[in-house]
Amino acid sequence: MSAPRTWLKNPLAVFTANALDARGGLVINGTVIEHVLAAGEQPPVPCERVFDAREHVVLPGLINTHHHFYQTLTRAWAPVVNQPLFPWLKTLYPVWARLTPGQLALASKVALAELLLSGCTTAADHHYLFPDGLEHAIDVQVEAVRELGMRAMLTRGSMSLGQADGGLPPQQTVQQGETILADSQRLIERYHQRGDGAHVQIALAPCSPFSVTPEIMRASADMAERLDVRLHTHLAETLDEEAFCLQRFGLRTVDYLDSVGWLGPRTWLAHGIHFNPEEIQRLGAAGVGICHCPTSNMRLASGICPSLELLAAGAGLGLGVDGSASNDASNLILEARQALYLQRLRYGAERITPALVLGWATRGSAGLLGREDIGQLAPGKQADLALFKLDDLRFSGSHDPLAALLLCGADRADRVMIGGRWRVEDGQVEGLDVAGLIADHRQAAQALVNG
Ligand SMILES: [Zn+2]
Repeated sequence: MSAPRTWLKNPLAVFTANALDARGGLVINGTVIEHVLAAGEQPPVPCERVFDAREHVVLPGLINTHHHFYQTLTRAWAPVVNQPLFPWLKTLYPVWARLTPGQLALASKVALAELLLSGCTTAADHHYLFPDGLEHAIDVQVEAVRELGMRAMLTRGSMSLGQADGGLPPQQTVQQGETILADSQRLIERYHQRGDGAHVQIALAPCSPFSVTPEIMRASADMAERLDVRLHTHLAETLDEEAFCLQRFGLRTVDYLDSVGWLGPRTWLAHGIHFNPEEIQRLGAAGVGICHCPTSNMRLASGICPSLELLAAGAGLGLGVDGSASNDASNLILEARQALYLQRLRYGAERITPALVLGWATRGSAGLLGREDIGQLAPGKQADLALFKLDDLRFSGSHDPLAALLLCGADRADRVMIGGRWRVEDGQVEGLDVAGLIADHRQAAQALVNG
């Protein structure tokens, strides 16, 4: 008995992230896209359901490749509003060190719901805080992901280089190497799904050069190779980090990455700003992916990712909102708008188009997570879709619907489908009490900063 087919009929506009003409719409069978219809084409198979998409701009579900869900509890916190990365981190670490499982559950749900409402269907999170009582942080996040029906790449972060040993984070936030590796293996064995349609995946993610030891970097790379999972970390975000690497390791960031066995196609990096031309060539040749986080990079005044040079060298490029203490939103369609404008400052208006940036937010991001089954509208791909309406005041008078999404500042999807199931309808997350969630999350945020 097969599931009923749905014809998503004649969208107002559609972006497929490939060369297919999909103006006739999509035929969805079960969890996947079965047919992509060109303008004027009819479905070649009977469709039990028809969804009239004439008012909708249809995109592949957006894919977020870097976040810290827990940071939704410390958004716009006055002491760090005007700080750059290192002081920002040092002020926040002691607050974050008090994080509890209940607070993390609420923070994750808020971040995921916010992403989902912005058209995001797959989210990567980088969680690196495992204080006493929060040893099962990733398990808490898996629950939140399942509750919202999204796809996620949950990365088992780690910090092992505390202040006592010359690192940045306070000692109570770091873990022993054995503990980190044992939990990493447990999580992969328990949760990591392989193959098309995966909902939960695990990657290994030592936090940054200034918060982990080279030993943990190497051991994580070995485990990733052995268990076939991906590797993620922050790299080349600020010049402070570059100075730290030169001073402590006598190496620039990419040389350091190379020295610990990370220069390969399993690796995707958050930020990737401060590279010289030779480093860009090496990253490209190795097939490393870069997650561009424009808002965070502007908020902390970190710099501008050399996106087009990285792409030309062969690196992958995707988008991420970064943590909600440096964005302070979890809105991926707005992040695409920020990427469009920040990259135009670097490369000019003609070269950075809305279609290019939407490609980064979809197919480019999918590549960073090692996935071929999402990020595009094509036969056989997962039926993950984001549908936007252009009926708000902000779109009135606009002409090109795809350009209008970014130029007029779309911030909320009308409908979102994940694996053939509607998760957002009429701008509301299915089955989620948003008002209740906000009330609980606000309280948790107060409790966390007040200690
Ligand atoms: Zn980050």
